[in-house]
Amino acid sequence: CADIAMYRAKQSGKNKLCFYEQKFQDEFNQNFVIQTALRSLKFSNYFTLVYQPIYELATQSISGFEALIRWPKDQGAHYSPDIFIPVAEQVGMIDKIGTWVIHTAIKQLSTWHKTLDSSFNMSINISPIQLINSNLLEILKNESDKYGIAPNRIILEITETALVKNAKKVNSTLKALSDAGFLIALDDFGTGFSSISHLIEYPINIVKLDKSMQDHHNIQSKKYKILKGLGKMLNELDFTVVAEGIEEAQQLEVCKGLPIDRVQGYYFSIPLPATDIETFFESV
Ligand code: C2E
Ligand code: MG
Ligand code: MG
Ligand code: MG
Repeated sequence: CADIAMYRAKQSGKNKLCFYEQKFQDEFNQNFVIQTALRSLKFSNYFTLVYQPIYELATQSISGFEALIRWPKDQGAHYSPDIFIPVAEQVGMIDKIGTWVIHTAIKQLSTWHKTLDSSFNMSINISPIQLINSNLLEILKNESDKYGIAPNRIILEITETALVKNAKKVNSTLKALSDAGFLIALDDFGTGFSSISHLIEYPINIVKLDKSMQDHHNIQSKKYKILKGLGKMLNELDFTVVAEGIEEAQQLEVCKGLPIDRVQGYYFSIPLPATDIETFFESV
């Protein structure tokens, strides 16, 4: 669609203007709808979390789950977090939402420690803004104390965007979180701002290789060679390496030949409501 628009734009300056105005208007309308809805929400009535299992590659047993936020629309559809999280960040609501996510995910983990397996960990996505603004450490300490969860069972997933802006403040927050025992995962590694120096400068325990890196077609491809090289390097540096976005058996086979510790993706399971996870465990 964008390509067609670019083509048209080259053909006629007038069309170009129309396209961008329309796009701007659409985005504005959508943001406005989301913003208004966000402001009026009583969170627990609207948001839910789904949980995607993460597997130990060697044993293919579940090491834990990634909590992913869902905002149901109508008829089973939902707004994608890729769309509403940025709006929540812009309008200053991400701290509140993030705190709700932390509370809900840790509470869920404490239940599963009692009913399923006490070694599970929970991965929670943290917005860059939470690392700058809020008393994140205090919130995490309170919730983990309250539910009797050891900090090293909680993995905070951050992206490199967080490391680029406000680097000083972010680094001191991450150091404090790390000193308190929480684990830090660098999410979506291999896209965007990926930089080796981030791996050295920040207290990172886990690196998640972005799903776009699974998009290789054969072991001669450059993408495969990058995946292999990165896997080796990260392993050598003692990071726990997670491959995201495993959709096919063949991608899993490739991972088995690499120093990758954990795997996650639709091949194993889509993100599921808590009750479905429990049903799954009852059935095995
Ligand atoms: P992410 O943290 O990188 O999460 C992985 C995304 O990939 C999730 O999309 C997940 O559903 C999807 N996924 C999992 N396995 C596969 C696979 O095999 N193939 C493909 N194509 N996709 C797969 P989702 O749930 O739509 O979340 C999108 C992004 O929104 C997340 O990316 C994360 O950056 C953000 N997000 C989600 N929940 C939260 C939250 O509670 N707080 C914050 N701050 N951000 C969140
Ligand atoms: Mg994540
Ligand atoms: Mg990711
Ligand atoms: Mg992502």
